Amino acid sequence: MDTTELKASVIREIDNRRQQLNELSLKIHANPEAAFQEVKSAGWLVDYLKENGFSVEKGICGLDTAFRASYGKGKPAIALLAEYDALPKFGHACGHNLIAASAVGAGVASKIVMDRLGGTISVIGTPGEEMYGGKVFMVDRGAFDGLDAAMMMHPAGINTAATRFLACQSLEVEFFGKAAHAAARPEAGVNALEAMLQSFAAINSLRQHIKSSARIHGIITDGGEAANIVPAHSAGHFIVRAEDDNYLDELKKKVLNCFMGAAKASGAKLGYKWGEVRYAPLLSNLTLARLFRRNLQSLGRRVHLYDPRIGIGSSDIGNVSQLVPSIHPLIAIAPARVANHSPQFAEIAASEAGTKGLLDAAKALAMTVVDLVADPELISGVREDFNREKNRGRSKVTSLRK
Ligand SMILES: [Zn+2]
Ligand SMILES: [Zn+2]
Repeated sequence: MDTTELKASVIREIDNRRQQLNELSLKIHANPEAAFQEVKSAGWLVDYLKENGFSVEKGICGLDTAFRASYGKGKPAIALLAEYDALPKFGHACGHNLIAASAVGAGVASKIVMDRLGGTISVIGTPGEEMYGGKVFMVDRGAFDGLDAAMMMHPAGINTAATRFLACQSLEVEFFGKAAHAAARPEAGVNALEAMLQSFAAINSLRQHIKSSARIHGIITDGGEAANIVPAHSAGHFIVRAEDDNYLDELKKKVLNCFMGAAKASGAKLGYKWGEVRYAPLLSNLTLARLFRRNLQSLGRRVHLYDPRIGIGSSDIGNVSQLVPSIHPLIAIAPARVANHSPQFAEIAASEAGTKGLLDAAKALAMTVVDLVADPELISGVREDFNREKNRGRSKVTSLRK
């Protein structure tokens, strides 16, 4: 089927809504709400989708600011994911206002496709990406069940269709020692800070012999009360990341051994707690990524499939991608040297370049919806790709939370 005309229609639809989408984006940007507090932002998005004929469920999965808005019926079922949380103090320095507006824009434009060819389009509101991994809870609670594809965009300094994210889990550590006068009676004390410092030394040694893509990093959040008191308590926050789930499990044991060894050496007692949320690695679906890339390129952008220059972090889309074929492409709104989570990036997220990014992303997402709905073989290709990646054993988790 020739999709030229349908693609031209969704592009026109998004251009016609330029002002509305931009207003939505700027309103969210001007009212930054941190993870799980996105009441206004979710409200505006839901209102816009309702006004445009979507049926909406708010507060899904037990999360007040999560939602699902759907239009059409039957298969294929395609979801566009919206994030809209801001960073404490930094506002929309990750540009999630643009993610939200582009998902909504692509969703509303996709109605043309559903009306013509059938299928279901949903915009799923996924709160709390920055701090709590909202999608991890939503995966466990069934928000993404039955979908054929899930797509979103993320603003960045480059255009790339497929990204990589590492599996990761955080770790809270405490050491309990014994206070004493640091000069008069040092022999009576058990130094909890020394236990923490030895742990860092052990982790630094371990780091020489781990896979180069893995990461271990942390901070000390309590290092004692005063220089003349042997610290009776120390605490730290760490994150362990790896390319696949099996290696993350292996690394978690090794990291824990570093703390256990330090406890033994210092005589301090160790307490620890792994983070409740575990992020899975991102399986970028290459069939989806290639379609998206071609569509974004047709709008005049140069787009990499992968860009090796990108540093690898982690995101809760990883967990979605283990269940549903997914992509998390990056759309350039800033020069490559400007990093997300900087004040400069927050400014750009409300600029003309931000608007251009949101519109191009919305168009490329909607055009990819056209591709998928118009050609059932593409959906099979997406599924085959997904199965191949899963079988490669890069991730064997069935329950993603540990
Ligand atoms: Zn971010
Ligand atoms: Zn982000």
